[in-house]
Amino acid sequence: MSADPLRLEWHVSSKVVVVGGGVIGSSIAYFLRLSDPTVSVTVIERDPAYTRSSSALSAASIRQQFSTPLSIQMSLYGIEFLRSIGERLKVDGAKPSIDLHEGGYLFLATPSGEATLRENHALQKRLGADITLLDKRSLGARFPWLNTDDLSAGAFGESGEGWFDGYGLVQALRKKAQALGARYIADDVTALNREGRRITGVVTSRGETYACDVIVNAAGAWARRVASMAGIDIPVFARRRSIFNVSSPARLERCPLLIDPTGVYFRPEGATFICGTSPSPDKDPDDLPLDEVDHALFDDVIWPTLAHRVPQFEALRVEHCWSGYYEYNVFDQNAIIGHHPDVDNCIFANGFSGHGLQQGPATGRGVSELILHGRYVTLDLSALGFDRVLENRPFVEKNVV
Ligand SMILES: Cc1cc2nc3c(=O)[nH]c(=O)nc-3n(C[C@H](O)[C@H](O)[C@H](O)COP(=O)(O)OP(=O)(O)OC[C@H]3O[C@@H](n4cnc5c(N)ncnc54)[C@H](O)[C@@H]3O)c2cc1C
Repeated sequence: MSADPLRLEWHVSSKVVVVGGGVIGSSIAYFLRLSDPTVSVTVIERDPAYTRSSSALSAASIRQQFSTPLSIQMSLYGIEFLRSIGERLKVDGAKPSIDLHEGGYLFLATPSGEATLRENHALQKRLGADITLLDKRSLGARFPWLNTDDLSAGAFGESGEGWFDGYGLVQALRKKAQALGARYIADDVTALNREGRRITGVVTSRGETYACDVIVNAAGAWARRVASMAGIDIPVFARRRSIFNVSSPARLERCPLLIDPTGVYFRPEGATFICGTSPSPDKDPDDLPLDEVDHALFDDVIWPTLAHRVPQFEALRVEHCWSGYYEYNVFDQNAIIGHHPDVDNCIFANGFSGHGLQQGPATGRGVSELILHGRYVTLDLSALGFDRVLENRPFVEKNVV
């Protein structure tokens, strides 16, 4: 398979240091040790309870309804991985459970969005995703609680889409990586020692220096700071996203994760629901504090949209809410995976912009291949490489939520 050209001149490397142990860093550590137990893998994670990590604060959902073959293929592998997680990540016979619920996504379209929905659906079907296109009448028949007045079509994931325990996924990957021999260090990376085209050491706040043959930047919303330690600018910024957990007397039979044409989403969470949306660009500066939640967004945008789409949601109550950061790639809202042309032994796996949890398994597998083989072996992720940013070739994924 074609992949990043072998100008990297990497071979099997003895010491890999991963900065950040969220879903991306832990998946990379797991696949590295699984594929080659001779490689030493050190993950440096400053927040081992994951109190601020996006992986623990997300909506923890997976879908196949993307508009590019690569995004779909990454999620197809994601669901395959999640379905078999007990077997793959068991430690000493104990199988982790992430409570995967394949309740489906329901993407809704108004007349102006129908052509795109149909085009995406054709691609998803061609690649083997189990998505059904529904016209207005079938939407109403299948989801009788839905207001379809302004809709013309919808696309529903019959299987392969749904939600799970995101924190559980990170813990399961981390524990398995550790069981396979990866070492986790609770410390803050504060500097990278760079000599010419190579990073030779990773320095932490406790004054330790970890020598490395390869370093991976898996620092999530803080990736830009870590990249800057290597003298590299990556267009990834911390953009706060709030989630609201609401209770309601509404009884919504077979409720999926619904994506309204406005971008507002909701899904069941036990007997309650969670919901959210992205703020408008003028209200979306970098680095807003995580201990605050955007209540105005709920009052002004989310609730009115929910009540319009599902009249039973006129009655609902916010039970609790939280915020996490999208590690937002302002260039094209998709992951940047691979090396930067100026530094040979530094791999980036950043900027997932709201769909990184589901892309964790495919990213871990791909990055481990890049490190161990100098190229992608299974799924070619080179379309997500750093080059596209430097050459101004956006990876256009129409279904970014
Ligand atoms: C509200 C919300 C909803 C979301 N919903 C979904 C969804 O439904 N489906 C989906 O697929 N994705 C979703 N996402 C996106 C997903 O959560 C992220 O893309 C994914 O978790 C990114 O994983 P990560 O490992 O890169 O980042 P993180 O989980 O943030 O891990 C990065 C880690 O790096 C550590 N770190 C940073 N800098 C340093 C340093 N200098 N030294 C040491 N450690 C460091 C941090 O402590 C952190 O733990 C959502 C995100 C949010 C915020």
